[in-house]
Amino acid sequence: MSSPQSISASNGAVHHKILIIGGGSAGISVAARLRRAGQDDVSVIEPSANHYYQPAWTLVGGGAYSAEATVRPTNRVIPNGVRWIRDRVTTIDAERQRVTTESSGEIGYEFLVAAPGIQLDWDRIPGLREALETPYASSNYEFALTTKTWQCLQRIQGGTALFTCPQMPIKCAGAPQKIMYMACDYFRQRDLLDKTQVIFGTATPSMFAVPEYSAILNKVVHRYGIDARFNHNLVRVDADRRDATFEVPDGEGTREVSVHYDFLHAVPPQSAPDFIKSSPLAGAGGWIDVDQHTLRHTKYPNVFALGDATTTPNTKTGAAVRSQAPVAVENLLAEMSGRNSNARYDGYGACPLVTSYRSVLLAEFDYTKKPTPSIPLINTMKERYDMWLLKKYGLPWFYWNLMLKGRA
Ligand SMILES: Cc1cc2nc3c(=O)[nH]c(=O)nc-3n(C[C@H](O)[C@H](O)[C@H](O)COP(=O)(O)OP(=O)(O)OC[C@H]3O[C@@H](n4cnc5c(N)ncnc54)[C@H](O)[C@@H]3O)c2cc1C
Repeated sequence: MSSPQSISASNGAVHHKILIIGGGSAGISVAARLRRAGQDDVSVIEPSANHYYQPAWTLVGGGAYSAEATVRPTNRVIPNGVRWIRDRVTTIDAERQRVTTESSGEIGYEFLVAAPGIQLDWDRIPGLREALETPYASSNYEFALTTKTWQCLQRIQGGTALFTCPQMPIKCAGAPQKIMYMACDYFRQRDLLDKTQVIFGTATPSMFAVPEYSAILNKVVHRYGIDARFNHNLVRVDADRRDATFEVPDGEGTREVSVHYDFLHAVPPQSAPDFIKSSPLAGAGGWIDVDQHTLRHTKYPNVFALGDATTTPNTKTGAAVRSQAPVAVENLLAEMSGRNSNARYDGYGACPLVTSYRSVLLAEFDYTKKPTPSIPLINTMKERYDMWLLKKYGLPWFYWNLMLKGRA
């Protein structure tokens, strides 16, 4: 295969046949698959020098995984023959088939794959950033804080440990509670669980969107003695007083409830990236508007999108990306060559719900919101040690060696 070329359009702007926005799980998986399919003009715009395996951040926060093992330099995950444009997209002009970047100017494309992930809206919770500067609060949603979570857990001698979960959608809906179960197991091992009031303040109405998994998680909550407070939406944190304030429904309106904490694990509200919200690709809620089965944009046939940034009503996970990437690539290749494609995404997503240092409940489901266990011969509708091994060892290996290489 020849090496990729930047082609200059007649008006001077750089132009690529296939341009991918975002070099995260989705962008790199798609780039690798396109390269394997023989495409020789594929470029990825990605501002970050590092690529992260975010699903292991939960384990880092629980002291069961090294933070360094979740990071690799971006240039090591960009597939051979794919061009990395180290820059950030600021605007998209889908009519003129161009994006504008922070420092490389305009870049044209024939086909666009948009995979910029989800935006963490820390500032929507006044006081949260200040709280995260103190020794009493952390969040596994920020790489730099994952090791701090573990340090905080090690310091706890009792008191109130508060874990929050914002309104959906967020990436990995289970992550706000996984770290809570690890914390409870850790407190139990140190005989501190009886001295620690563990509160789960969640904006959701139940533990999980799929009732069958929610029922199992209710038992986990009961086992650890967790005080689960549903429909509790974190709206404010007072870092000095260590108070977290939630808005909760009250009749026709809402009222505020404050909780004093000795440790806070907070998960920020999340939304589509701002440059997507203000782009012509945006649909409902500002997410990239694609057909939920073909992953093709509803208005621009030369645009595909996948990963956390789209309107598709699946759970926003790396597992979903793994199912989406082959569909997006197949449908893009079909569009490029003018043939039909039957590739369809069924909404599959999975969430390995860590419930202790040796058990995981592997929640798998699709658009029907019914459990869709995919591992033959074993019952994954319960907490299992082998699923813990899969989470800690199997899935990271799979990610770096197969998924990012376009092999699975
Ligand atoms: C704590 C935590 C635990 C998780 N646990 C799990 C789990 O157990 N299982 C699971 O399957 N998933 C899990 N996930 C979710 C999973 O990591 C994401 O769903 C997945 O990474 C989504 O892939 P993506 O490519 O859409 O987004 P990302 O992988 O986040 O990549 C998006 C990329 O786009 C880039 N980008 C952003 N803006 C621009 C721009 N303007 N221009 C160019 N590039 C841009 C970003 O730098 C980033 O590299 C977890 C996530 C977190 C945070």
